[in-house]
Amino acid sequence: MITLHVGFDDTDSPRMGCTTYVAALLVERLHGLGVSFIDYPSLVRLNPNVPWKTRGNGALCLRIRCDEDLLQEIEEIVLDTIEENADLSFAGTDPGVVFLVANKVPQEIRTFAKQTIQGIVKMREAMSLVKAFGAEAVGFKTGRGIIGGLAAIGETLEGDHTYELITYRTGENRGTSRRLDASSVATMNEKTAPLTFNNLDPETKRVLITPRGPDPILYGIRGETPAVVWRAHKMVRSLEPVERWVVFRTNHGTDAHLQAVNTIDEIRPYNPTVVRGTVTKEPYIVPRRHVVFSIKDETGQVDCAAYEPTGTLRKAAKALIVGDVVEACGGVRPASSNHPVTVNLEKLRILKLAPKLAFHNPQCPKCGGRMESMGRNKGFRCGKCGFRSSELKKQVTEENREVEEGLYVTSPRSQRHLAKPLCRYGREKSGNPSTIIGNWHFP
Ligand SMILES: [Zn+2]
Repeated sequence: MITLHVGFDDTDSPRMGCTTYVAALLVERLHGLGVSFIDYPSLVRLNPNVPWKTRGNGALCLRIRCDEDLLQEIEEIVLDTIEENADLSFAGTDPGVVFLVANKVPQEIRTFAKQTIQGIVKMREAMSLVKAFGAEAVGFKTGRGIIGGLAAIGETLEGDHTYELITYRTGENRGTSRRLDASSVATMNEKTAPLTFNNLDPETKRVLITPRGPDPILYGIRGETPAVVWRAHKMVRSLEPVERWVVFRTNHGTDAHLQAVNTIDEIRPYNPTVVRGTVTKEPYIVPRRHVVFSIKDETGQVDCAAYEPTGTLRKAAKALIVGDVVEACGGVRPASSNHPVTVNLEKLRILKLAPKLAFHNPQCPKCGGRMESMGRNKGFRCGKCGFRSSELKKQVTEENREVEEGLYVTSPRSQRHLAKPLCRYGREKSGNPSTIIGNWHFP
């Protein structure tokens, strides 16, 4: 018996397909060969800020135990399934597959996975690891999907992870609008949240479990355990047939892409960051209603932007003043002709609010009227009784702040796959599942 890891990526395009669907087909086909799965299929979201990403930038890995005699047949099934289902005629679709036989995934490949989730890696780094560990890599066209395939093998999800049960539509329904009973989604949410998350947008009540677009996904339910996403799936009433479904183990909702830097000068474009600084420029609103402010530390300064659909996060950003200390989290956009390097905020932690001071002219000690300034350092004169004083000073009062210290997160409707929603704080987990539940895939 051998342990085989099959990682693959980049089979889809904006016009069709979904790499998770290829995984779902493979689960059924490999199951038919009699192999045993040692983990749920992993769905690993890679750095959402790489400039050439396909839609969701998700890579897949299947981990199985099988007879060594089956290896060649398995490889043929995998390659055939990818070839049949990938949008190979689309210019940006470059599928890649990696096969690795290993009882334990080497540390170097795990490190590579982390770099692929948090930063930018190169094809030759992937190929040198493939060679070093005797893996086999097959690329279609440029084969760029080999990078994601290897990363999916290397992300063993022993740290924080979540689950997603994804259902797929039958062929004739793909491309049409998805038909679900929305009230059943609301009931499911009531009964299973917060162990499931991002089912509905709380502000707009929009159903978030259905994607938009021509891909074969009907809906995906995210949650903390395989059992809860399966239970939630049973509560959703679909008005169209479900062709198949699979429970994936994922890094969704874990913030795996964010990497803290020590100082502002360590920020690198395309590397999602967590950085602290003091607000140095009052927030202002740019066209399309984005809020922009700047933070600084002893090494430099960077712009931070909160986008219009980010709800409470944008409101909090708008209420900041110079002197507030914050932690900004999000993707890093490189400088362009119309803006400097900018952190696109996914989260904002307000660490310390500065006092908001208001200065008023003093009251007249004789008649109680409001005094007027006679010019800088020239004292005050009462407009009512004419009393003058060069001793009196401006009065300072502290105004209420319209925002509190704490964590602000984008609204669920604008959260990226990797962003940890508020309801997951305190639910982080680690380790691999000890058993695989019976109902983890159909058919
Ligand atoms: Zn007076």
